[in-house]
Amino acid sequence: MKIAVISGDGIGSEIIAQGKKVLRTVAHKYNFDFEYEDVLLGGSAFDKKGTPLPEETVEICKNSEAVLLGAVGGPKWDNLPGNLRPESGLLGMRKALGVFANLRPAILFPELVGSSNLKPEVLGRGLDIMIVRELIGGAYFGEKGTVNIKGGQKAWDTIAYTSFEIDRIARKSFEIARKRNKRLTLVDKANVLESSKLWRKTVRKISDEYKDVEVSYMYVDNAAMQLIRDPKQFDVILTENMFGDILSDEASMLTGSLGMLPSASVRGDSFGLYEPVHGSAPDIAGQNKANPIGTIMSIAMMLKYSFNMTTAAEDIKNAVSQVLGGGYRTVDIAEKDTEVIGTEEMGELICKYM
Ligand code: NAD
Repeated sequence: MKIAVISGDGIGSEIIAQGKKVLRTVAHKYNFDFEYEDVLLGGSAFDKKGTPLPEETVEICKNSEAVLLGAVGGPKWDNLPGNLRPESGLLGMRKALGVFANLRPAILFPELVGSSNLKPEVLGRGLDIMIVRELIGGAYFGEKGTVNIKGGQKAWDTIAYTSFEIDRIARKSFEIARKRNKRLTLVDKANVLESSKLWRKTVRKISDEYKDVEVSYMYVDNAAMQLIRDPKQFDVILTENMFGDILSDEASMLTGSLGMLPSASVRGDSFGLYEPVHGSAPDIAGQNKANPIGTIMSIAMMLKYSFNMTTAAEDIKNAVSQVLGGGYRTVDIAEKDTEVIGTEEMGELICKYM
């Protein structure tokens, strides 16, 4: 099984090192091999190759069965022109791979209820929401520009979606909802945005084919509020690129830390790009402080979605749960007065429990 591995920048190499340990443990336990190819993306690619998205990186990723990515970006590259910034490499990579559906589960392990900012009575015995975010359309990819006008400047970004783009991700979301609690909420801003009206119309039409899934519609401002007020009302949230970007970060705080959250970016086949939701965390890079669980749970998603290894994926989730149950915490999820362990120790413990 061929996996392209992108460590990227900041904490990327630290968390990917733990991810590789987990893959080695899985390979050993189930007696097969993963073949890795390390490739460059983002700031480190710019430093070595003069571009944040080298062509050979795209080629190797396209020829792999899955891609594992740490994170890209950092202050060192913040003043580069937009097309040379690490983030543009990441956006270009997602687009080149055609991974249109970003699955972001917001899972709160019961052991971490105390690490969330919400009261335990709002969270109950944990949370499990799946946010499906459209990944290669909308404002981040639409026509954009800046021009000088009299006395100042004018800048714009365009949100444009076709019914085809909405149709394919809506179907994916209905299929996911079918395998969960059969509830889907489309989050949009259909009271003001034309693009949102098309999302609603398209989803409504497709919902006729999925009568077993209960569909609801919610404006994004209300959804941002409801996620904090009563997160348990949600099962699958389907939304466009920018709303999904913002809401999934919000949802991460329900789960205790951004460092806990995995993601899978998929298309119609078994190929996928797997990465934690967080960024390169330059403030803690190189200090053995990063939480590797978002990356390790992304590997669990890879095993499930790309390699159909559901038992191995469950093994990882159970090991994480047991390590947390044993009271082990990285600094981002540690409650007051608990002992803190580092990135490496967390990775090793998860392998040990597997
Ligand atoms: P960030 O997610 O990197 O960090 C936000 C906060 O969360 C920081 O305090 C950080 O220390 C903490 N944090 C993040 N991941 C953590 C982990 N695994 N363990 C413990 N704490 C963790 O977001 P930011 O600070 O806004 O961005 C930093 C850089 O990352 C920027 O250059 C940004 O463009 C980039 N970025 C990249 C991605 C990506 O590669 N997918 C996503 C978001 C941001």
